[in-house]
Amino acid sequence: MIIVLKRGSTVEQIEEVSTRLTEEGLKVHLSQGVEKTIMGAIGDRQKIESLDLEALPWVEKVVPILAPYKLVSREFHPADTIIRVGGQEIGGQTVHVMAGPCAVESRAQIMETALAVRESGATFLRGGAFKPRTSPYSFQGLEEEGLRYLAEARDKTGLLVITEVIDARDVDLVAHYSDILQIGARNMQNFILLKEVAKSGKPVLLKRGPSATLEEWMMAAEYIMDGGNYQVMFCERGIRTFESYTRNTLDLSMVPALHALSHLPVIVDPSHGTGKWHLVHPMAKAALAAGADGLIVEVHPHPEKAVSDGKQSLTPERFQSMMHDLSRLAHALDRKLGEESSF
Ligand code: PEP
Ligand code: MN
Repeated sequence: MIIVLKRGSTVEQIEEVSTRLTEEGLKVHLSQGVEKTIMGAIGDRQKIESLDLEALPWVEKVVPILAPYKLVSREFHPADTIIRVGGQEIGGQTVHVMAGPCAVESRAQIMETALAVRESGATFLRGGAFKPRTSPYSFQGLEEEGLRYLAEARDKTGLLVITEVIDARDVDLVAHYSDILQIGARNMQNFILLKEVAKSGKPVLLKRGPSATLEEWMMAAEYIMDGGNYQVMFCERGIRTFESYTRNTLDLSMVPALHALSHLPVIVDPSHGTGKWHLVHPMAKAALAAGADGLIVEVHPHPEKAVSDGKQSLTPERFQSMMHDLSRLAHALDRKLGEESSF
């Protein structure tokens, strides 16, 4: 149920509603917008109704949220959520591009890539230190050594870091080095991991599972918000379909669909979404046109030598050309790319 309070409700009034709900054993979440304060009460509907909260003069209405996702829904938080991280805002006017290699391979590789993508206007450096690989014989990542290189690259370039955490036991370690925690497609429904990243206090980028429906994906985000972490963003990275020319089918209809149903920012990954470098630039433009709040793109100084995902990685030159087009497109859409002044 959501409890909508009247404009100008005081802290004491909010507190009173909250106390009444918690005394009944209900879990309360607060969404404080500029216009309205909305409280989300999770638990037995009859108990909430029996409290007769509408009798309080500062309560505007008490309405049920019929969808299974509650905190993730627009009803709970009508305005777009803006995630503030390291001086950047995700989900507002600025479109952020997160770029870097699939995997952190060496100190030199990550430094070279970081300098190049920053030069072209990226605001976040991506790179996996823990790699979830289909084969146990493939490179599994540099682990903490890789995290240290990412942090070093952040110190040198000012780029913020996003990297994947694949195991609940590593959340504290990854959170120590990274600005955003990435939950990979294969882990979208790893509920133990979702509960653990909820406790980390770091923003989370939640990738769509390769066969997840929109509702399953939103429920996965609900786990993180229910755990007390409201800084969640969705990432569409393509789903498995009968098409085999592309690695995945990038489902861009999810961008406006998520924006309609949820207040959380939406990022698009055209690299895993297509699996082919020459499709990345056009699909990145399409994602922006569909309303994406950001992009996450694989860039490698020498894609032919990459230990993973070389086929879908852009060279720094191709990345620069893409960024040039994205910047012009962002302006046409009344938005702007992060760090535009630097290129
Ligand atoms: C990645 O970002 O390198 C990755 C493994 O992506 P996904 O989880 O979408 O497959
Ligand atoms: Mn990859």
